[in-house]
Amino acid sequence: MPQEIIPNLYQLCVPLPGNPLKELNAYLIRGKDRCLLVDTGFWQEACRQALFAQLGELGLGPGDVDVLLTHLHSDHAGLAPEAVGERGTIFVSAVDRPSLDCTRQQRARNWDGLTARFAQEGFPPDLLADMEHTNPARSMAPPECGRYESLTDGQILEAGGFRLQALLMPGHTPGQMCFWMEREGIMFLGDHVLFDITPNITAWPSLPDALGAYLENLDRIRAYAPVRALPGHRESGDLALRVDQLKEHHCRRLEEALKVVRDHPGAGAYELAGHMTWKIRAKSWADFPVAQKWFAVGECMSHLDRLMAQGRIVCRTEGGRNRYEAV
Ligand SMILES: [Zn+2]
Repeated sequence: MPQEIIPNLYQLCVPLPGNPLKELNAYLIRGKDRCLLVDTGFWQEACRQALFAQLGELGLGPGDVDVLLTHLHSDHAGLAPEAVGERGTIFVSAVDRPSLDCTRQQRARNWDGLTARFAQEGFPPDLLADMEHTNPARSMAPPECGRYESLTDGQILEAGGFRLQALLMPGHTPGQMCFWMEREGIMFLGDHVLFDITPNITAWPSLPDALGAYLENLDRIRAYAPVRALPGHRESGDLALRVDQLKEHHCRRLEEALKVVRDHPGAGAYELAGHMTWKIRAKSWADFPVAQKWFAVGECMSHLDRLMAQGRIVCRTEGGRNRYEAV
């Protein structure tokens, strides 16, 4: 059942079966003519049923809404084409749009740059091949659709009597956006800040120091002091407090990554990630499921990139492999 947050603004809960995130928070703004749906769920049957059942309870069917995406990830974008049908528009940041608004072949090519970096970091080729089949980011991504429109930083979108200002907050993805309703003091966070989980910060070929950008944008979002901060997953909470916790977390992780580089000079991110601590129930690094290894190595890479930007470590590339050393 959709939950009313304030009149004409509802929270919808879309389950993400088998995914550690558990569920997606979608939000629906009801307008007289058109309605605006913020995020959608994976392109997957369980998500589809839950999303359209809840839209149905609000008297809405496919094609009755426009969609506003916080970022490109499949758990947010997957069902956008079905939700807007033949009439609606999918709004997404101009930065993230090329990853969605393209053919399947182009999308596969978009992954190549990232896959190449993982290979350079020593990620085993057979595991990389496994990821191509099992990565939900690929298999549950939205199908091709020509209904996208770009948003830029600061742009205002009007929906149902509300004014939403798009705020570009690169970090979690290069084009992650938050949406600010100043009059109501409501901030849609997407996955920029989550309260019960730490948002995954990985490396992106188009964002050379993703963690650096993320930390800057944590400061930027903190300055807004919303009455209600609405995250893409799980519960809401105190934004300023959570930003401080996340900054402290990454500060600690940077020190840990630096220590691991010092203890294992010349290693790549795959080996280094195996020496970092992770909150996962596996006996050893070798026992990590491949998807968890992928996320761990991605997170490790973003911390190594930050340490390089700070001038605390250097990277040599030899024989196609990245090798890190403390300065
Ligand atoms: Zn998400």
